Amino acid sequence: MPALPKSLSRICVALGSASPATLAQAAEREFKDGNTFLEFRLDYLPVPENGIALIEAFLKTRPEANVLATCRLSGHSGHFKGTIDQQTRLLAKAAVAGAFALDLEIESAERATAAVESMRERTPVVVSYHNFESTPSLEPVLRRLMKVRADAYKIATLARKPTDSLRLVEFLKQHHRKEHHKTPLIAFTMSEQGLCTRILSPGLGGLFTYAAPGGADGTAPGQIPARVMKSLYRIDKLSKESRVYGVIADPVGHSKSPQVHNRAFQARWIDAVYLPFHVTQAQLGDFMKLAAKLPMAGFSVTIPHKQKIMRYLNHVEPLAKRIGAVNTVWRKAGRWRGTNTDVEGVLKPLSRHLRLAHATVLLAGYGGAARAAAFALHDAGAEVSITGRDLRRASVLARAVNAKAVSLAQASDGAYDALVHATPVGMYPKVDESLFPESIPADVVFDMVYNPYETRLLKHARQQGCEVIHGADMFLEQAAQQFEIWSGESAPREVMQKALEAW
Ligand code: NAP
Repeated sequence: MPALPKSLSRICVALGSASPATLAQAAEREFKDGNTFLEFRLDYLPVPENGIALIEAFLKTRPEANVLATCRLSGHSGHFKGTIDQQTRLLAKAAVAGAFALDLEIESAERATAAVESMRERTPVVVSYHNFESTPSLEPVLRRLMKVRADAYKIATLARKPTDSLRLVEFLKQHHRKEHHKTPLIAFTMSEQGLCTRILSPGLGGLFTYAAPGGADGTAPGQIPARVMKSLYRIDKLSKESRVYGVIADPVGHSKSPQVHNRAFQARWIDAVYLPFHVTQAQLGDFMKLAAKLPMAGFSVTIPHKQKIMRYLNHVEPLAKRIGAVNTVWRKAGRWRGTNTDVEGVLKPLSRHLRLAHATVLLAGYGGAARAAAFALHDAGAEVSITGRDLRRASVLARAVNAKAVSLAQASDGAYDALVHATPVGMYPKVDESLFPESIPADVVFDMVYNPYETRLLKHARQQGCEVIHGADMFLEQAAQQFEIWSGESAPREVMQKALEAW
């Protein structure tokens, strides 16, 4: 009985195309991109039978490729409208055409054990379990799968919260440890919340993971392009020893931090990966359970968790405590520690343009980032005035840092050495907005907004002859400090800057 090759790529690119021509093009494009392990989803084709000739033709020109053939039934979360008998016959034909392995879902496999045995005579069979609703208890799932003899088992479940991913990770590690479980396992959670397991699972003993093709949708929730898996997350290099870092946010998809930090780890040859964790406001405690069990060494914290995270930490640096917000967490001797690197993110770029002691600074906003700026500027000896659309709320922050609260109209009529803008006004997609549409009352203008790179406020400031500081400078500075806290090494700033610009 043939076995699955030992030197299989860690990434299988799932190709589901609505026509044979686009499937052939996608396969060719992925192969040229260095992806030699491809899943052909025959059930996505209007006539799945047409996929057989496609596999044959593709493997004729690309004999080094490994094609996994799948033809999921429509009642089993696929698109194939035939019977189980037709399904297994089609897969058997795919094997004759050269597919190196076949995937059959458990719902079909347990009704067609004789057909599975017969397919395995020629080609390895992966028996798979999918749950697009939730992540149930995984041991019973595996027991169910193992009732059908197969060459590998696949478990893909939907993660709704961080501990769903945690259970999957623990299960995978346990399976890998058990000597008697010789059958390889492919296991991961789907959805944005489950992304960490898609990336970490091969390093934890999973046989491989699935990726989407470049420039097209994947075939399941949470799939990301193989190119991103390889070059950004370096999935081929990850092992159970690799340290895990990340960013927690809701939403998290837009974050530039994975780009910047992964490149920094790569530049310094550090065995670590930085992942985006989608964590809703209600899931912070649940995330901390995942963080405790992963080899997680630290993480960035952003909206909406900067305040609430503090209750989960063993130690918070005094300035972060005064600010009331933590954006950086790290684990030291098993204890979680927190600080706020937005402070340096504000001070460093500003002090390249002016001496902060006794400088008059207008701070627009009284949210999280503004609080960090207010305390940092106050401690640096600046004379701070705080403005915003709600004077009462500006006054609350002003009182905390011995500053003055001024209305937007008063602020616009004033004259300051610097303006620090800390509201989302002007941020993508509302790029035509500015909190100071008339004249800007400062010589140095610092906009924390970094998307777009140059906001309407900064363009206007340039026209007015002001010196400008981009939000990207702050982003880089706070990220560089995070990197140094986590790694104990100097941050590769140029690499980080390039990564930020390339995003
Ligand atoms: P936040 O805690 O939600 O605070 C937002 C602030 O903006 C509040 O003062 C809010 O006042 C005000 N605001 C919101 N919409 C407004 C509007 N339409 N007009 C006037 N004021 C408005 O957010 P944050 O974390 O402080 O972030 C603020 C900005 O800084 C964001 O654009 C964020 O992307 C940016 N930021 C950049 C960096 C970086 O590294 N460059 C770091 C942190 C933050 P109300 O309460 O009255 O709405």
